[in-house]
Amino acid sequence: MKYFILFGPPGAGKGTHAAPMAKKYNLKHLSTGELLRAEIAEGTELGLKAKELIDGGNLVPDEVVEGMIAKAFGKYRDVAGFLLDGFPRTVTQAYDLKEMLEARDEEVTAVISLMIPDELIKERIAGRAKIEGRADDAKPEVIENRIRTYHEKTEPLIALYRDEGIYHEVDSVGTIAEVEERVSRTVAEILAKA
Ligand code: ATP
Ligand code: MG
Repeated sequence: MKYFILFGPPGAGKGTHAAPMAKKYNLKHLSTGELLRAEIAEGTELGLKAKELIDGGNLVPDEVVEGMIAKAFGKYRDVAGFLLDGFPRTVTQAYDLKEMLEARDEEVTAVISLMIPDELIKERIAGRAKIEGRADDAKPEVIENRIRTYHEKTEPLIALYRDEGIYHEVDSVGTIAEVEERVSRTVAEILAKA
């Protein structure tokens, strides 16, 4: 199985670019953000607990997202692999993912990192707020907190995956079509070497 990680700050376009990539390579797209929003929409206990953290721009506990990921790994068997979007987001999650995969005799195939400056993140999220109506997109201070959280807790993963030689950057500034083309070329290069 292939295990791709689509990496990047909030609003980098992970969800946008995950969809065509998952389709093209028969990967199951797993977005922890979307899974959490589904729990909230269903009003589950997990959703109720997560909502407050998400709406404040904070991460939910590692074990919560890890539980959702582990469940999904067990559930989808008829695929060529998985496309992880928004996971891992902390060093602990990255190590725990490594263990989860090792237990299945698998490993992360590659990390594709969508690069975008902080100023553009704010612009894109403000635009998306009007369309999608997400509570965590509505307040500037929440967006600031998400960007800060990304730099503090998530960005350290770059060094980790770079050391493993599986880290690839894609410039996410441009039209959706332009970025999609860059992502597509990067995936093709990775698969050609695999
Ligand atoms: P993008 O716009 O690129 O899809 P995002 O950060 O705007 O990214 P989601 O990935 O949908 O949005 O995440 C929304 C929220 O869900 C996060 O701010 C966080 O509270 C929670 N969340 C999602 N994934 C994780 C994770 N791996 N660990 C902890 N919390 C998470
Ligand atoms: Mg997303």
